[in-house]
Amino acid sequence: ATPTSIMVGTGRAAELGVLFRQGEALQSLKEIGVVALDKTGTLTQGRPDLTDFVTASGFDDEETLRLVASVEGRSEHPIAQAIVAAAERRGLALPSTDGFEAVPGFGVSATVEGRRVDVGADRFMTKLGLSIAGFSETAARLGTEGKSPLYAAIDGRLAAIIAVADPVKPSTPEAIAALHALGLRVAMITGDNRKTAEAIARQIGIDEVVAEVLPDGKVTVVKRLREEHGRIAFVGDGINDAPALAEADIGIAIGTGTDIAIESADVVLMSGDVRGVVNAIALSKATIRNIR
Ligand code: ADP
Ligand code: MG
Repeated sequence: ATPTSIMVGTGRAAELGVLFRQGEALQSLKEIGVVALDKTGTLTQGRPDLTDFVTASGFDDEETLRLVASVEGRSEHPIAQAIVAAAERRGLALPSTDGFEAVPGFGVSATVEGRRVDVGADRFMTKLGLSIAGFSETAARLGTEGKSPLYAAIDGRLAAIIAVADPVKPSTPEAIAALHALGLRVAMITGDNRKTAEAIARQIGIDEVVAEVLPDGKVTVVKRLREEHGRIAFVGDGINDAPALAEADIGIAIGTGTDIAIESADVVLMSGDVRGVVNAIALSKATIRNIR
């Protein structure tokens, strides 16, 4: 493409809220075969709500929530904010914590009022040597409903199963349909539970789900998808999306996301709207046409 056509293309893109940080991205975007998207905060709003809180026998609801929310008060994960908000709605005062520790992709731990509290994914409980078998039916139901199940342990005993739900952005299904109309394969990559991810993928028409991916695993998935389907665009918003944004042929960051995601991307969507990906591809095709 000529410098002029790229200038016109990037200018037109900016009007549509699509920022090309790399001029070459405008040319190469039309050559992709697959688009992979992060789930939380990209396809979904990224602001989950606590929907279910079921304690094991011998554990009191409010007391367990109070201890769990105290630990989550130290975490910046969106899940943590949902749990703290639920405790605040119930007017629970949250005590301070000692020895807080976050294990990325697994969960969080701390000591509260002399008690050890661990909160996180099923694999976190497994890592701690705790069986979650008693909650397996509840977990399966929550997953099918598109909710993310989490577990809490107090003093090394499984105390509760907790669910959070993160609504899909209203614009997402239309954006996925438009990507399909362009003949592209659409994949979702997430650290979330498999059943939950599959329920959400069905709702919005995703072709391939890669779930329960650890924070450093997204790059490996991007490489595999490229081998299988050709040039890849990856769309994400989070700190742990940055390596995958850099690895992809085209990294596309959600403008409402973290600074590190934006800095690692070739293209930035100024609104949080995935339809921007479709606009960017359309512009790439139009720019190439102009110069022929
Ligand atoms: P994602 O952003 O896709 O959920 P993360 O790697 O941030 O991926 O987290 C993966 C999983 O680890 C979460 O879905 C959750 O089950 C668990 N987890 C992470 N942080 C927390 C936390 N603060 N509280 C409870 N669970 C957590
Ligand atoms: Mg995200």
